[in-house]
Amino acid sequence: MHDFQYRHGDLYCEDVAISRLAKEVGTPCYIYSHATLTRHFRAFDGAFQGIPHLVAFAMKSNSNLGLLRLMAKEGSGADIVSGGELYRALKAGVPPAKIVFAGVGKNREEIRYALETDILMFNVESSAELRAIDEVAAEMGRKARVALRINPDIDPKTHPYISTGLKKSKFGISAERALDEYKLASSLKHIEVVGVHKHIGSQLTDVTPFVDALKKILALVEKLKEQSANIRYINIGGGLGITYSDEAPPRPQQLADAVSPLVRDLKCVLIMEPGRVIVGNAGILVTRVLYTKEGEAKRFVIVDAAMNDLIRPSLYGAYHEIKPVRETPHAKTHVVDVVGPVCESGDFLAKDRTMPDARAGDLLAVMSAGAYGFVMSSNYNSRPRVPEVMVKGGEIHVIRARETYDDLIRGEAIPDFLK
Ligand SMILES: *Cc1c(COP(=O)(O)O)cnc(C)c1O
Repeated sequence: MHDFQYRHGDLYCEDVAISRLAKEVGTPCYIYSHATLTRHFRAFDGAFQGIPHLVAFAMKSNSNLGLLRLMAKEGSGADIVSGGELYRALKAGVPPAKIVFAGVGKNREEIRYALETDILMFNVESSAELRAIDEVAAEMGRKARVALRINPDIDPKTHPYISTGLKKSKFGISAERALDEYKLASSLKHIEVVGVHKHIGSQLTDVTPFVDALKKILALVEKLKEQSANIRYINIGGGLGITYSDEAPPRPQQLADAVSPLVRDLKCVLIMEPGRVIVGNAGILVTRVLYTKEGEAKRFVIVDAAMNDLIRPSLYGAYHEIKPVRETPHAKTHVVDVVGPVCESGDFLAKDRTMPDARAGDLLAVMSAGAYGFVMSSNYNSRPRVPEVMVKGGEIHVIRARETYDDLIRGEAIPDFLK
């Protein structure tokens, strides 16, 4: 459920007409609903209320400061994958004790920064990384808390680009090698192994892979305990899917019902790293039709948003529903490609989509764009990045201003010899 609904034929976000917002802020723009964000976070967090747990919002799905502050106020931690995300999390007020740090390529500056701020733990993806963390912690006279990220070799049955838990994946340590890695870790003076971690992929629409992967992890935890490991955290990652078109992913409660009985008696804190399921359907991208064009073989709707603003269709062939901001129930429908102004054939928001007739000046809402939307945007074609807006009831809050042409060249320089 989300708060982008029609009232008398006009699309609203909560109590704000999208058409009015578009007039004020301009297009393209991202719009997030405060009510949807809050409800999604609470539904997820609440589903696990029976067991000790920490929800660490996966910041890479949406790292806007304003949105993160909302998550932090709701009690969320943060799952980070870079020093930049750590910086943002701290600026947004996420307590370091609720921050976990994943990623195969953490560099020494990032490791030092995370140790300085005393985050909860690193999710470690290789023995080389274990050694690097140990060295940096030694230099600082610290002990680093870590979880071993286990690759359970479970097929999440999702898009290959967002599947992370298979043998061939670059992520994590295989279950077979995990005991050896643990032995290494416990021999390192500046490492304390406190948990195990897994994250098998994104946009999962079935609980079975979650449960299968968790069972593998728990079998490993048993063995670790035999080696007198003090495992206090079990991190099951993120990946719960959302409805983009007709998927019927499990609800957070269904995930909780499947997971809770398996971990209830372990005296461990369960960590989860949801991203998409919290923010995906809480955001849309609003764009205006610039032109329509009758090609030789196709009809095109040319809009002012492009692949640099929302790359998921181009990158993954992802489907995003596109709705008219003003409903036109009697309009003729056409099969169209919705494309942007970027000079690439791969620049499209929808292909062969049946849509009501769209005319120049019409506003369209690209739905389910709250996750992996703005965060993946770029300045390609020297297009300023678009604003982000949070709507709360009848209020419009710009939480990121539209970039200017000056922003585009910030930090660039013409070398003296060319002056
Ligand atoms: C991307 C990622 C997540 C979040 O995935 P969603 O599908 O957005 O829930 C969580 N944990 C890790 C380690 C990730 O890389």
